[in-house]
Amino acid sequence: MAVAFNPKRLMTILLVGVAYYGGAMLGVHQTITPEGIAILWLPNAILLSAFLILPYRQWPFLGLAALVAEVGADFPVFPLWAALAFGLVNLFEVALAALLIRYVVGAGFNFDRLRSGAYFLFFGPVISSALAGLAGAGIYILLGRADTAYLTLWLLWWFGDALGLLLLTPFLVVAWRRLEHGLPRLRWHVVAEVSLLWFVVIVLGIHTFEQGNPGDLEFFFRPVWLVPLGILAAVRLGVIGASATVMLIVALAVWYLVQGVHPYATSVPQYAVWLTQQYLALIAVVSIGLAILLCEIADQREALKIHEGALEAYNEFLEERVRMRTLALEDANQALQRANEQLASAAATDELTGISNRRHFRAEAQRELSRLRQGGESAAVILVDLDHFKTINDSYGHEAGDLVLRSVLVPMSQSMRPRDLFGRMGGEEFLILLSGVDLETAASIAERIRAAIEALGIEYHGQKIHVTASFGVAQWDGQSDLDEFIRCADETLYRAKNRGRNRVECHLEEC
Ligand code: GH3
Ligand code: MG
Ligand code: MG
Repeated sequence: MAVAFNPKRLMTILLVGVAYYGGAMLGVHQTITPEGIAILWLPNAILLSAFLILPYRQWPFLGLAALVAEVGADFPVFPLWAALAFGLVNLFEVALAALLIRYVVGAGFNFDRLRSGAYFLFFGPVISSALAGLAGAGIYILLGRADTAYLTLWLLWWFGDALGLLLLTPFLVVAWRRLEHGLPRLRWHVVAEVSLLWFVVIVLGIHTFEQGNPGDLEFFFRPVWLVPLGILAAVRLGVIGASATVMLIVALAVWYLVQGVHPYATSVPQYAVWLTQQYLALIAVVSIGLAILLCEIADQREALKIHEGALEAYNEFLEERVRMRTLALEDANQALQRANEQLASAAATDELTGISNRRHFRAEAQRELSRLRQGGESAAVILVDLDHFKTINDSYGHEAGDLVLRSVLVPMSQSMRPRDLFGRMGGEEFLILLSGVDLETAASIAERIRAAIEALGIEYHGQKIHVTASFGVAQWDGQSDLDEFIRCADETLYRAKNRGRNRVECHLEEC
């Protein structure tokens, strides 16, 4: 198969085989029971890690490598048939655990979720190791080396395998997954922390395990001291750090156990092994389980942070949009305001002359009169009507008439002060409201305007148009409304017309 000839895959398979061999050698030779059963069986963890990570199609090659390694390590301590049988049982154990875990958790298994860790614990150390132990203990019975009970052999196999899986699988899987993303950076503060922690573990571990004194129950509690160190490793160093720290504790415990020294009040080696296995399994489950839980919490916090970041970004985007919309709205509002102002001014001014139209003049004049009324001030109006204007239109045309209308504004405007009001009342009729002015002054202003209009020579297509105007001047009585006041001026204007035009007439009484 092409798979087998991929050099990287071949290397992996060889590496698994060699590591399995090393683990098996440790297991076979670190023993204290007469039948030679392992205290701690690590090689299954190596094979299980590979089975959990690598594709199914590589399993046969990995399995074969493990089988060869097992036979190599077991022989000649065990006969060939037993070595082969042990290998097959271990293969069954690992394959069953891997199949079940991968079936439930799915591809990409890692020790980053408590759920994954729990399935691993259940299908691996609990179920598969126990089942394999049933067959493994049978092989020991068939070997007939000692008269240990089948049940005891099963328990020892089960716990030895379970402990091996518990200790090494999380470490290997997490490290393997991490290496897939390249080598991690060495951080000195972590190195210092690990060194300090492991120093304490070694000192406390030696103190815990070196004083074997079966019979004294006090020692039974001493291993508990090491549990907080496993927890500390989980909190500070994650799954890999916790596994490694527990492995250190395991190494110390197994080392002393192999020397025949252990802190348990028992002289039966099988029982001492089983107690050690239980103790170590407990420390491993607590420490590594906590590390997995913390990893999951950290991942969730990270995911939450990312989610929060995305939300914030979206919020900013929305705020920006609102800002843009507000600006656009403000622009539109300003444009509307300008249009309104233009409309208002268009509605207030006379199109031809650009001065106030009748409606606007009336409104302003009414406001001015009420102001004057309050202040007790005087006022006068001058009503101006061009003479024979129809004739100008008839003689020179409507355009010339318009020009005349615009031209007579000049002398009228020049004779007024800024506060005076000025409006076109319609046709060729204009009205001037002079605030704070008496009849005499108003009459003289009217006279000045009259003379100025008369003096105008309006240039139109090479011709000079002359025009005159008649004026009706009236004095306000300080009380009358605007209409009454204008009616007086109108009457007076009528008189000016009747008396020959081009003249100023004054209303004799106040209106
Ligand atoms: P009177 O001396 O009696 O005031 O005679 P008049 O011809 O000036 O008065 P009349 O009321 O008979 O005629 C006013 C003329 O003004 C009639 C109209 O065609 C003209 N007129 C009114 N508004 C305008 C305008 O905006 N432009 C022009 N060119 N003519 C206008
Ligand atoms: Mg008129
Ligand atoms: Mg007229």
